[in-house]
Amino acid sequence: MQKKNIQPSIITFIVALFPITLWIVSQPLVISSVAEVLNTLGKLCAIAGFSLFGWNIFLSTRLKIFEKLYGGLPNLYKWHHITGSWAFMLLLIHPTLITLRYSTISLAQGYEFLKPSTNLPQLAGEATLGIMYIAVLVSIYISIKHEWFVKLQIIIGLVFFLGAYHGFYIAGSDINQSIPLMIYGTVWVILALGVIGYRSIFHKSFRKRWDYNVQSARKENDLLKLSLSSDSGIQTYIPGQFVFISIKNANLPKQYHPFSLTSIESEKNLQLGIKQLGDYTNALSNVHEGDSVSVEGPYGEFGKDMEKYSHQIWIAGGIGITPFISMAKTLTNQHVDLYYSFRSEAQAYFIDVLKTIASTKTNFHLHLINSEKQTQFSAGSISQKVIDSGVAVWICGPPPMMKAIKKDFIHAGVDSNQIITEEFSLS
Ligand SMILES: Cc1cc2nc3c(=O)[nH]c(=O)nc-3n(C[C@H](O)[C@H](O)[C@H](O)COP(=O)(O)OP(=O)(O)OC[C@H]3O[C@@H](n4cnc5c(N)ncnc54)[C@H](O)[C@@H]3O)c2cc1C
Repeated sequence: MQKKNIQPSIITFIVALFPITLWIVSQPLVISSVAEVLNTLGKLCAIAGFSLFGWNIFLSTRLKIFEKLYGGLPNLYKWHHITGSWAFMLLLIHPTLITLRYSTISLAQGYEFLKPSTNLPQLAGEATLGIMYIAVLVSIYISIKHEWFVKLQIIIGLVFFLGAYHGFYIAGSDINQSIPLMIYGTVWVILALGVIGYRSIFHKSFRKRWDYNVQSARKENDLLKLSLSSDSGIQTYIPGQFVFISIKNANLPKQYHPFSLTSIESEKNLQLGIKQLGDYTNALSNVHEGDSVSVEGPYGEFGKDMEKYSHQIWIAGGIGITPFISMAKTLTNQHVDLYYSFRSEAQAYFIDVLKTIASTKTNFHLHLINSEKQTQFSAGSISQKVIDSGVAVWICGPPPMMKAIKKDFIHAGVDSNQIITEEFSLS
C-alpha cells in the first residue's frame, strides 16, 4: 500500500510554529486579562502568518528539492495554495483579534483601530490585507486566465514586503524587541528578495530547458498530436510524466503550458496529445513542422508506483487518457483494467493505440464507456474488488469526475492511499 506523504503537513506546521516558539522564549507571556490574551493571540497569528507567507514565496521557486519533499510538482502547487490560504487566514485573524482587544476597552477604540490610518506602518498593514483580500476574492470568484493568475501571484508576492515593513516598524512591534525574531524576519525578507531576483533574472539559467523542433503536428478532431524531435533532448523520463512546452511561432503567445507525454523513453521523439479547448491550445493549430520548441521537464510522479502493484485499476476521463498511454506502453506483468470514459466517438482519444496494446498484452484489459450511449463510469461496481484484492486505483480526468469517483471509492471503504490521481490543473 502507498504510504501517505505527511512531510508537507509537518513542514507547514514547523514553519508556522517555529517563530511562535522564538516569540515565547524571548519574552514573558502576558495573559492576565482578556485584552492581553486577544493581543497575544493576534500577534502570534501575525507572526505565524508572516512565516507561512515567506515560505509560500519560497515554494514558488519550484526548486527540485521542494518537488521531492512535496511528492511531485502538482502536489507542490497544491501545497503552495494551502500554505498561501493559511497565511492569508492567519493574517486576517490578526487585525480581527487586535480590534476585539481594543473593543474590550471601548467600541470607539475598536473603531479607531479599524479606521484607515495616517501612520505609515499601520497603513502598510492595512494595504497588505486589503490587496491580499482582493487578490483572493478575484482568484476564487472570477474565472481569470492563467497568465493573469500568474500576475496576481506576483502582486501577492510583492505585498509580502509591505507586510514585513508593517511588522518591523509598527509601534510596539515584537519583532523589533526580540533579537531572534528580528533575525528570523530579516532572513525571510532576504530570502523573498532572493526569490524575486531568482525568478525574474536568473530563472532561465537555473531551470534546464531543452531545444526541440516540431517534427509533425497532426489534427484528429479536437485533438492535436505533436511529435517533437531533438538531437540532444531529455534523456530520461518515466511513464505518466509531463513537460512544459513553449512553441516559437509568431501566432503563439510566449507561454509555457503543461502536457503529459504519451511517448516512452525508448521512442525517439517526445509525443503529446493536446485537446484544443482554450486560447493557447486552439492557437496551436498554427504550429508548423520545423517550429522551435522549448521543453522544460520532465515532471510528475503519477506513474512512479506502477511497478509496485501486481493488480491495478486505471480510470480515465476524456483527455485524462494521455498519461495512461505511456503507462500502457511500458506495462510488463501487472494486471491492469483501464476504464476509459469519453463523451462521443469523436472524443475517444488514442483508441487505436489502446486497442493495439490490448491485443498484444493479455494482462491489459480495456473497458470503453461512451457516455453518449452508456451510463457514466461509477466506482460502485468495482469498489468491492478494490477492497478485497488491495489493488491500487489511478484516476485522471476532468476535476469534477475525479472528485466524484474518489469520493465514491472512499465512501465504499477504499483506503485513500490506494488512490493515485493526476489533476490537469496547477492552480
Ligand atoms: C500535469 C498536467 C498535465 C496535463 N496534460 C495534458 C495533456 O496531456 N493533454 C491536454 O490536452 N491537456 C493537458 N493538461 C491541461 C493543459 O495544460 C491545459 O488544458 C492548457 O494549458 C490550457 O490552456 P488554454 O490557454 O488553451 O486554455 P485556458 O482556457 O486558458 O485554460 C484552461 C485551464 O488550463 C490551466 N492552464 C492554462 N494555462 C496554463 C499554464 N500556462 N500552465 C498551467 N496550467 C494552465 C488552467 O487551470 C486553466 O483554468 C495538463 C495539465 C497539467 C497540469
